[in-house]
This record gives sequence, C-alpha cells and structure tokens, in this order.
Amino acid sequence: MITDPWFLIAVVASFTGYAIYLAGLQRRLVEPNRASWLIWSSATLVEAFTYAAVNPGTPQSIVFMLSAAACVMIAVALWQRSRWSAPDLLEGICMGSSLAAILLWLVFREAFWAHMLVVAVVPVSFWPTWRSVWGDRARERSPAWGLWSIGDLATLMLATRTGGQDIGEYAYILVELACHASVWFMIGLGTVNPLRSFGWREGRLRVLDVYAPANPFAVRETHLGKAVFAAQPFGAGDEIVAFTGRRLPAERLPRRLIGQADRFVQIARDTYLGPSGGIDDLINHSCAPNAGLRFTGDTPVLVAIRDIAEGEEIAWDYSTTLADAQWRMTCTCGAPECRGIIAAFDTLPPDRQRWYLSRELVAPYLVPNRSDVAA
Ligand SMILES: [Zn+2]
Repeated sequence: MITDPWFLIAVVASFTGYAIYLAGLQRRLVEPNRASWLIWSSATLVEAFTYAAVNPGTPQSIVFMLSAAACVMIAVALWQRSRWSAPDLLEGICMGSSLAAILLWLVFREAFWAHMLVVAVVPVSFWPTWRSVWGDRARERSPAWGLWSIGDLATLMLATRTGGQDIGEYAYILVELACHASVWFMIGLGTVNPLRSFGWREGRLRVLDVYAPANPFAVRETHLGKAVFAAQPFGAGDEIVAFTGRRLPAERLPRRLIGQADRFVQIARDTYLGPSGGIDDLINHSCAPNAGLRFTGDTPVLVAIRDIAEGEEIAWDYSTTLADAQWRMTCTCGAPECRGIIAAFDTLPPDRQRWYLSRELVAPYLVPNRSDVAA
C-alpha cells in the first residue's frame, strides 16, 4: 500500500495543503473558522490515537498522527490570535453535535451506525466554515482546499485499488471529498494553480503572493447599509485596496441607477469603473474621509489618508473622482463637516479641493495643471 502512487499522492497533497494553510495563517492570508477547526483537530486526534492503538507502527498510523498534529497546530495558531468570545448559536450547535458524535463513536466503535454518525457530522463540522466563506470568500482563499480535495480523490482511488473497504469507509471518503471540494469551489478553483501560487517577484521567489492580502476588512451593517470596517490598523499612506471592475464608457452607464449608482466610480471624463463584486464596492462615502483614491498605476488604489484604527469604518470622498454635473446623492455620512450632498469635484469648497489635490487623491482627469494647484 505504501508504494502505491495514490497513497503517495494523498499524503503529499494533504501535507502540502497543511503547510500552505499554516503559512497563510501566519501571514494572515486566511481567516479560518475556529469552530470548524476545533472539531477537525479533535476528530483527527481521536482517529489517530484509535488507529495507532489497533495498528501500531504502520505508515497509515504515522500519517494520521502527523495529520492530527497539523490540525492541532492550525487550531492552536488560530486560537492564539483570536479574541475570546462565546461561540454563536450555530457554532455551538455544530461543535456540540460533532463532538458528541465523536464521543459516541469512541464508545461504540464497532457499530456501523456509530461510524455513519461520524460520516453524517462531517458536513455539520463544515457548516461554520461554509457560512464564513459565504460571507467573505477571502477568508479561506488558499490552495490548501484544492490540495485536500486532490488528496481525498487519491484516497478514494487507493480504496478502490486495495479493496476490502466497507461501504462506511467509502461514505466517509466521499463526504470528505465533497466538503473539501465545496470550499474549493466557493473560493474559486484558480487558487490551486501552482503557477499562480508561486512566482518570481521583485527579484526573489515568493509564495502565495497573488492572493488578495489577508482579509483586513470586516463588513457590517450601518444606517447606510453595508459598510467596510478596518479589521486591522492601517498607517497613513498605506494602500488599503485596489479598485477593480470592468471599465464602462459613460454612455453605457445604467442611468436608472443614478442616486444609488455608488458602485460605479468615474475614473475618466467618459469612463466608469463598474462593480467588482469585491470589498471595494462596499466602501462608503464620507465628507471627512480617512482614505482616498490614488491613481498612480493602471488601477486606482485606496490609500489611508491618516492612521486608521482597527474597528474604524473606512470611507473615501466620492467627489474626488466625480465630474458628472448631473450626478448627485444626498449625504448622511454624519461627519461634522458633512456637505449634505455628494456632487462633482468642482462643487467642493476650493480649500477642500486643494486639500485633496495636494495629497494626490483626485482622479487625474480632474487635476488642473500644476501652477493652479500651487496657487
Ligand atoms: Zn457627508
């Protein structure tokens, strides 16, 4: 069995996955769900110790031990950087039922129903992770999910080749495969492509560079609807997020959206940036913003105007990219200096215009020639 290529593929894929996931966790590229990882580390620990008791010294028992160690390392790393808070209802139910199923299996190990109970709670253990990925797929954006799916597939191939497996064994492997692959699909299949995971950047080999950086944002509801909050501090001048999305000529802008067209950013006199589907769509306007849009390269990048503390809402002044004289939106940003209305850049008080211009936070097509700025 140990010389079977499927065994080797399963082991290599699974452990490469753990290594990448741990590296991502250290670098805050992923924001795993604590409830799911508590269940998974308990389950792999129980599995490893019971298997080792029955089959001591076999290669499989060593693999199970190492898997359990990796899961525990991830759970501990996760717990270390978390703040203590009570699990919410869903996390509580999922952890309670999963741990109860594992305990029942420990007691009634020989019973088929106990084995199938463990199979049935695999999706339950994934539920908190599915919920967090559904809310923000950047939380789990790691090639590890693809590698774990490949590892499950190899385990399945191995089971069919070695034979002698009962239906319960297949059920467990298939459910694991379906759950790992579901997360992989939810975060985007491109995340396992090694050519996008490794690369020569800025003169040296880098790993994981292509991902959206960690998830430094939290999306919460405010009186204005969805709003983006800093989940980590930003220093003045830090790049916060690049604004992406499809470029649309002005005449193709959906006119009936005016008034709530805040997901379209005017980047040139006749060009708008459409919604990207990402966090940049949700960042609100403020008349006293802590961030501004800078147009140095190809894509506009939101930068911090001043230090932004963790938990502060991130906002920028929509007028700094706006020339359309007809575009108007009532502002309820609540800042003491609120202008009451968001409109084209030239409607801003001249000193406010200069304030943005001197910080290079105005769309280039709105910038008057240099001598005017200095005045
Ligand atoms: Zn305002």
